[in-house]
Amino acid sequence: MARQITLIPGDGIGPEVADATVRAVEAAGASIEWERVEAGEHALAEYGRLIPDEVYASLEATRIGLKGPTATPIAGGHQSINVALRKKLGLYVNFRPVRMLPGLKTRYCDVPLDMVIFRENTEDLYAGLEHEIIPGVVESLKIITHNASMRIARASFEYARHEGRSKVTAIHKANIMKLSDGLFLKCCREVSAEFPEIDYQELIVDNACMQLVMRPEKFDILVMPNLYGDIISDLAAGLVGGLGIVPGANMGDHHAIFEAVHGTAPDIAGKGLANPTALMQSAVLMLEHIGEREPAARLQAALRQVYAAGEHLTGDVGGRASTAEFTDAVIAEIARVREPAEVGD
Ligand code: ATP
Repeated sequence: MARQITLIPGDGIGPEVADATVRAVEAAGASIEWERVEAGEHALAEYGRLIPDEVYASLEATRIGLKGPTATPIAGGHQSINVALRKKLGLYVNFRPVRMLPGLKTRYCDVPLDMVIFRENTEDLYAGLEHEIIPGVVESLKIITHNASMRIARASFEYARHEGRSKVTAIHKANIMKLSDGLFLKCCREVSAEFPEIDYQELIVDNACMQLVMRPEKFDILVMPNLYGDIISDLAAGLVGGLGIVPGANMGDHHAIFEAVHGTAPDIAGKGLANPTALMQSAVLMLEHIGEREPAARLQAALRQVYAAGEHLTGDVGGRASTAEFTDAVIAEIARVREPAEVGD
């Protein structure tokens, strides 16, 4: 029976990369029934709500979502859609594997990279607690709790153990934020003691940025509070070819939403130029998560092959292809690999 998945195309380049990804996932042979729902500016204009009730109802039923980027209007006091979904569904792990694709020459990195970022997803300065004390003075509250820090630290170490990885680096600014980042570090140390086979290292966030640029190959698993995770993710994405590449997953105990690291990219929206690789690689993570291992492997292999050939890449990674041409190349590669097997069956 087909597995139901909630599809949230989103805003900006979201619908373009979502349509491309759905085509690729279907070509890869996954048995999926998409439940398409709208969230974001588009939904606000049409239904008067950034996240209509159908979105929650669908995610409650399917428990798994594939999501394009969504825009939150800056004015009007709206809470970010991603923050709202993560809080409501308890998606406390933001998981972002940062890997080089074959053949891709990036300006900053000529060594193969394979690092995984674990970003705490529910608190820190993203708690949204800001107020004006007196005119001209505002305060934003950085919330760090023992519970949230323990569970993200544990998620990173469990992943490291499960995948046979060797090192976890906690990123912080505890020299300045002694209490908040100090608590985060204390939790990471406590969890690290349960995983003696895994090296544990701590790096101050500014130093981490420099080390990531100078010696990115030294990193393995990284764990950090929410805001540093936002910034380090984009830095790491830049190392492997930009935001068009890097996938992500937001995971909790009961639900998971898979989405690219990039935003709505309004500068290229609607022009057929967006690179759908990041959402396609997010779909690979999703397929693995739901046990569709063969379609996941096919789609990942096809992406790697299209990058290795380098003939149908989008503009952000130095090519000239449109979103559709790139997607057609991925689908053609899947078909090329699948056909002989099917003839032989
Ligand atoms: P947000 O605040 O929602 O994260 P943003 O405007 O800060 O959004 P992005 O929307 O992620 O950031 O885009 C940053 C830059 O990267 C833009 O110039 C955009 O064109 C480019 N970019 C992002 N995603 C892609 C993609 N999938 N394909 C091609 N270019 C992209």
